[in-house]
Amino acid sequence: MAIRHRNFSLYYISVSLFACLQIFVNCDDDLNSSYSTPINRDLYHSSGDLMEMIKNLVHRHPDKLRMDTIEAGNKGYNAEITVITYCQGRKDCDDRSKIRVLLSFGQHGRELITSELALRILSILSEEQFLPNMHPASLNNTLDELVIKVVPMENLNGRKLVEAGDLCERRNGRGVDLNRNWSVDWGKKEKDYDPYEENPGTASFSEPETQIMRKLALSFDPHIWVNVHSGMEALFMPYDHKNMTPDGLASNRMRRLLEELNEGHCQKHCMIGSGGGSVGYLAHGTATDYMFDVVRVPMSFTFEIYGDSSASAKDCFKMFNPIDHSTFNRVLNDWSAAFFMIFKLGPRYLDEFQAKATASNADKWVSMDEYLDGYLMERTQRYGRKMEVLDRGMQEIRTYFRLFLLSSVLLMFMFCSRISKNKYSRPATPS
Ligand SMILES: [Zn+2]
Repeated sequence: MAIRHRNFSLYYISVSLFACLQIFVNCDDDLNSSYSTPINRDLYHSSGDLMEMIKNLVHRHPDKLRMDTIEAGNKGYNAEITVITYCQGRKDCDDRSKIRVLLSFGQHGRELITSELALRILSILSEEQFLPNMHPASLNNTLDELVIKVVPMENLNGRKLVEAGDLCERRNGRGVDLNRNWSVDWGKKEKDYDPYEENPGTASFSEPETQIMRKLALSFDPHIWVNVHSGMEALFMPYDHKNMTPDGLASNRMRRLLEELNEGHCQKHCMIGSGGGSVGYLAHGTATDYMFDVVRVPMSFTFEIYGDSSASAKDCFKMFNPIDHSTFNRVLNDWSAAFFMIFKLGPRYLDEFQAKATASNADKWVSMDEYLDGYLMERTQRYGRKMEVLDRGMQEIRTYFRLFLLSSVLLMFMFCSRISKNKYSRPATPS
């Protein structure tokens, strides 16, 4: 009995110890998974401050920079996107012989570092900051050939949600992923589809932000497009929706440029290749696939500029953004230098491409739907009518236009067959 009692005490003590240890382990686990690093306000601007700084920069350099704000909305949801245009001396900005570059930052709300990079690039363009190894004179020669449009914060509404504490939010202000809302292969869902991450919206281009970006891309018609993200370090080219890169000259040229960037500014550790092939999952309805396939931008890229794979899944600020001063500065220095390398090499690579591009311009068709959408958006903005009306109006016009096309083709067919009937039924003239 005494022995049994002693055994029981031992058993009791060991069970208690085990339970205590378990509690500690669990507490530790909970601490690790629920702890999320807050936004480092010493390093990062608020969205308001960042846009204010950019606005002031534009005011100080009217000879180089211009700022436009484009608004759109539907079903009670409104969005605005600020676009900064860089054009040296503000002369020949519409000269179509210049190389046109379109850069977008902050498409996903939680990737704050990307908008800081936009600010850095604009500061270097306006010569308020400098790249360590580039002489201002050589920079000026490079930039003389270019018109650069920068969208510093594509997803302002989503970014505001992040600033209000939802540090893992990547979607726009009503829960749609702006990098799944484009029309190339839109709406296809993979097995691991997570609506919190990748909700593509109710239709392609359902979101005002995507509509604005499409209109901007179609009217500006860039030679180079870069969609800047964070979460990893990679230099992606099309395609995102399939596990392959495009064929031919354009593809080789993109890959060559990416390899040079990897060597020059990524210490050869950036992943290179198609987004769909390299990242391990396919993405449908992305901006870069649309830019390449529909807008026919010869050099279309997605860059991932920083990622901390050791951060816990819920620690989004740390996973997507550098949290210490030296990493923050290194990322901005490396990647702004990478962009200026693109500004320098891009035109050189495109020179070879130019002749071919001019020849193939005839097949650069934009569908009637694309054209009508762009046209109607412009009209609506001009007259300030509501987007709900636009939505319905657009659908009706598309339907009428299709009917009109169909009936024209039918009429033409009837007319032609009538003519050929007359022609061949006419009695042969005797020789
Ligand atoms: Zn992203």
